[in-house]
Amino acid sequence: MSEIISLLPDHIANQIAAGEVIQRPASAVKELMENAIDAGATRMHLIIRDAGKELIQLIDDGKGMSPLDARMCFERHATSKINTIEDLFRIRTMGFRGEALASIAAVAQVELKTRRPDDEVATLLVVENSQVRKQEICQAPVGTNLSIKNLFFNVPARRNFLKSASTEMRHILDEFTRIALAFPEIAFRLTNNQTDVFNLESGKLKQRVLGLLGQQLNTKLVPVDEPTDLVSIRGFIGAPDTAARTRGNQFFFVNNRFIRSHYLNHAVSQAYSDLIEKDAFPLFVLFVDIDPARVDINVHPTKQEIKFEDERIVYSFVHAAIRHALSKYSIAPSIDFSLDAGITSLPAVTQPFTTNKQTETKEDYLFQSFTEKGKAHFLEKSGDTREWKSLYKIQSALEAPPHESSSESVSSAETLPLQQEEFKSTFLQINQAYLVVSTRYGFLLIDQQLAHQRILFEQFRKSTASTQVSQQLLVPQTLGFSPADSILFTELLPDLLEIGYVIEPFGQDTFILQGLPADVKPGDEKRSLEKLLESFKQESTGLKLDRRERLYLTLATQRSITHGKSLGIEEMQELFAALFRCEQPMFTPGGKKIFAKFGAQDLEKLLQHS
Ligand code: ADP
Ligand code: MG
Repeated sequence: MSEIISLLPDHIANQIAAGEVIQRPASAVKELMENAIDAGATRMHLIIRDAGKELIQLIDDGKGMSPLDARMCFERHATSKINTIEDLFRIRTMGFRGEALASIAAVAQVELKTRRPDDEVATLLVVENSQVRKQEICQAPVGTNLSIKNLFFNVPARRNFLKSASTEMRHILDEFTRIALAFPEIAFRLTNNQTDVFNLESGKLKQRVLGLLGQQLNTKLVPVDEPTDLVSIRGFIGAPDTAARTRGNQFFFVNNRFIRSHYLNHAVSQAYSDLIEKDAFPLFVLFVDIDPARVDINVHPTKQEIKFEDERIVYSFVHAAIRHALSKYSIAPSIDFSLDAGITSLPAVTQPFTTNKQTETKEDYLFQSFTEKGKAHFLEKSGDTREWKSLYKIQSALEAPPHESSSESVSSAETLPLQQEEFKSTFLQINQAYLVVSTRYGFLLIDQQLAHQRILFEQFRKSTASTQVSQQLLVPQTLGFSPADSILFTELLPDLLEIGYVIEPFGQDTFILQGLPADVKPGDEKRSLEKLLESFKQESTGLKLDRRERLYLTLATQRSITHGKSLGIEEMQELFAALFRCEQPMFTPGGKKIFAKFGAQDLEKLLQHS
């Protein structure tokens, strides 16, 4: 019998490995940018076409490669960064597994031009499907110019699996932003479909933060700077009124590497806890430096997770540093909480807070803008009944037409359709949450919030730009988003117009809001749009709704009356009638049961008569 085990050909092994390292265009962007940083680049230019599906190109002015290295770099485990196992523990460079270029070359058409400073000519190399197609000398400036064309051209399953252009572009922008934030001394340019998105000169961190997250933050950034022997933290946090409904602008870097850490995010949020609303996310760009021996950054290149040797100390330290920064700007009272003995000696805790300094900061423009604007943030009036009432006009509560039968059934005894003659006009509200409506043989128990959600949802679905009434804002408002959010927002614009928003793009990641749907409380508009965006980012709602329906659902959820709202008899009648005019009065768009029906048998059962 012949042997059945054989070694995988290299190009197949590479393709498999590529699946781990290169999941989407953004992963390739990250690898190329990190390589350029490791090569000592002082500027780099990223060029994207069709969200990276057509082209990802990075041009750097780094140290370049020799002709032999240019060929070697596409081999698996080819790296110039590790020679011995000990190197692993000293590593300060971005990449060291020698997998990225091999993986990319396995799943794309790659063209590399590279030249070292002392070389007369450059090397040109074309690799496709792990095969070198061409190697020759050429003219090129010092540095490396690498193009990835038609990513996953030979792995259709992966190519088809890519998300919409705007989603993939958002991931690219995320990677670009993280790296550009970590290296303000390097100049970065990003061109997308022939348009410059960023052109960031080298400079200080603050400049870089503003360049990436928006100039509107100019007077809103509070510096954080607490160096200690054990761990240091520096960077910027946003004034409370920059806290957003979306998690977008939260960046933690440990030893200059972007990481995700719910734990550290929590430390920051806690420090803000009495300053911002519960569901708001403070803005921060923070760099924690700590002896690499005390952290375990997961070495897998695509993971961004971290473990600290002593998490609790780092947590308390971050918390104290943020508290201190906020109090220095008189945004929060000075240190007012107890700390572990181990860190009470840190400067964040011990630094005296002189009266001089306090007066100084109080005169500060920053301080004044915080205290004024910060307040407005908390002043939110609770809903007014008139608004939702005006949403639907009905003649009489009992006018509701009989409902068409539906395939779904309510679990209680009788099934729909409900006949209008079944109802008596007896309405009762219990717990400021449920309506009890008596029927001929029993009663209905209706969740007021869910009912309103369904009503609004169907109303939005029926509306079109021409039927929607907009209210003009007296003072148009500027909405500023991060570049990534702005792409997403642009995608939502047509739908927003349709339901009554009047919004126009206004250059770099800014939009002008000129009008609102008639039923949106002015003053709430920014918050409601931010919430909307946040819910869109959570792509996994698990519901089979299309984009527009998700928008309607989000709006309906945002605007529905809540539990805890007492309703007058007329309001209950209106709500009830409007619910039964809905196409689907039984379930919310999210699939929750809106009401339960109790018939004679149920009542008997409840009282255990049968
Ligand atoms: P790693 O970065 O983990 O070493 P890569 O596959 O990303 O592995 O790169 C392989 C090698 O190619 C690097 O170690 C480096 O020597 C070389 N290289 C890659 N990109 C560049 C670049 N932009 N400039 C100079 N050398 C580069
Ligand atoms: Mg690399």
